[in-house]
Amino acid sequence: MNKRVEQLETTIIHASIRGDYEQKTGAVNIPIYLSSTFHQDSFDTFGPYDYSRSGNPTRDALEKTIAALEGGARGLAFASGIAAISSAFMLLSSDDHIVITEDVYGGTFRFVTQVLTQFNIDHTFVDFTDLDAVAQAIKPNTKLIYIETPSNPRLGITDIEGVVALAKAHDCLTFLDNTFMSPLYQRPLDLGVDIVLHSATKFLSGHSDIIAGLAVTKDKELGNRLAFIQNSFGAILGAQDSYTLIQGIKTLGARLTQSTASAQKIAAYLDGHTLVEEVFYPGLANHPGYDIHAKQSTSPGAVLSFRLPNRETAKAFVESVKIPVFAVSLGGVESILSYPAQMSHAAMPKEEREKRGITDGLLRFSVGLEHVDDLIADLEQALQVATESVIASTSK
Ligand SMILES: *Cc1c(COP(=O)(O)O)cnc(C)c1O
Repeated sequence: MNKRVEQLETTIIHASIRGDYEQKTGAVNIPIYLSSTFHQDSFDTFGPYDYSRSGNPTRDALEKTIAALEGGARGLAFASGIAAISSAFMLLSSDDHIVITEDVYGGTFRFVTQVLTQFNIDHTFVDFTDLDAVAQAIKPNTKLIYIETPSNPRLGITDIEGVVALAKAHDCLTFLDNTFMSPLYQRPLDLGVDIVLHSATKFLSGHSDIIAGLAVTKDKELGNRLAFIQNSFGAILGAQDSYTLIQGIKTLGARLTQSTASAQKIAAYLDGHTLVEEVFYPGLANHPGYDIHAKQSTSPGAVLSFRLPNRETAKAFVESVKIPVFAVSLGGVESILSYPAQMSHAAMPKEEREKRGITDGLLRFSVGLEHVDDLIADLEQALQVATESVIASTSK
């Protein structure tokens, strides 16, 4: 097939089957190659696959797909988002130092603070909305700057190109967790980032059915080093889940477009509600990172968070909503409501949490594919119940 210049929505549909076309099967879906090992035709020369930890045709199709979507040299699929992230950290060596966003995903926080420290790899947490603070945290042995934007759960925005410039000046690698945006809305490798990481459990698979992770490197040499670690560490994605993820990715464009349009309306609705103290969504002009986000991404995405006055109102609200599931995770076809103080950030001491703005009234909402009018009507009635709970408690 000739090389075409096309939109990502088009690449998403066809990327996984181009390899199979070459094999002339004509199948429109990549087969699930359930084979741990591969027969070798010749005594001396081996075929492209030998053992599925090192390479599997179904996983290969997925890895090529994500590399094409992110515009990178090499894609790699892992057993979970955190497997992709922790494997990428294995590129570091003892005595290296990491500068990392203080808003980082909880599992990444745990790996950096409790596992990497065992290997003498140190870290400094910084507020990444402040580039000067990032610059000041860089030490002579800093080898990696780790970005997550928008961050969780307050959707803080990091200036990607600003951080990349600092990293290049100090000879550091940059990794970026692109889970919230997906390549459809943000392509960090184009902005100079070295490795993009994903929890593909979220928007990329999109159906709350599998746990999966992806990494894409900007250049080939780094890709080979990470592939070596993937094979050595062994946290690969199986063929069946690779297939499920390929199918999920095909509908990413349609899903994200609808969920984001709904998220815009819901953010505006919540922003105008008297009980809601604050809404965090990079698509609202009052969001502090609005301009930077608009410069480096094509859309604000489908996740927002908002602050109710306290734990009691949050509880009354959660107990009254009918449509969203109340759960950890995000990026599914169903709307997912989470309570960071007791879910993603439960392990963090209360003062640390509150310092990061994760108060007892903060809720995160991942907007799914339900009709937006139904979602807003549901939020409306639940906010009404929460408002009445305030009135009841103040008149006691
Ligand atoms: C969920 C998540 C992860 C971890 O991915 P798993 O697939 O759960 O291992 C990492 N980063 C972000 C931003 C996430 O939301």
